[in-house]
Amino acid sequence: MSYFPDEMPVPVAGPDDGPFWEACRKRELRIQCCADCGTFRHPPVPVCYHCRSQNTDWKQVSGDGEVFSYTIATHPTHPAVKSMASYNVAVVMLDGAGDVRLISNVMEIADENLSIGMRVKLCWDQLSDGQLVPRFVPAQENAHG
Ligand SMILES: [Zn+2]
Repeated sequence: MSYFPDEMPVPVAGPDDGPFWEACRKRELRIQCCADCGTFRHPPVPVCYHCRSQNTDWKQVSGDGEVFSYTIATHPTHPAVKSMASYNVAVVMLDGAGDVRLISNVMEIADENLSIGMRVKLCWDQLSDGQLVPRFVPAQENAHG
């Protein structure tokens, strides 16, 4: 089951993030990375902000990470979410991807149980058009401290 109703708009790939979405279709989370200095960056852009190189890699990461920040949205910002009482928007710091933080959602958790620093793991959410998008679920290790 998808996190959002089917009426939610689907992502449209732009000139720089095509490889990101293509990897998602293969259930691979790939983050753009400078081929010269190794700096990770997201959202994807054509030039490294660290060394100005235009040589790019797409490194696969595990999708393990932790909640850096989050908010609970209770006001429907789009007609598609009118039927939802609330939903979370989480900023997830990915393991093994430098300072990259992915804006996503944590599924399978009550609003009041979400917390900063919580370990999460990647799950794939299939949208109405078949596109897979990276979302997260709480990692088992949270239950064991
Ligand atoms: Zn660089």
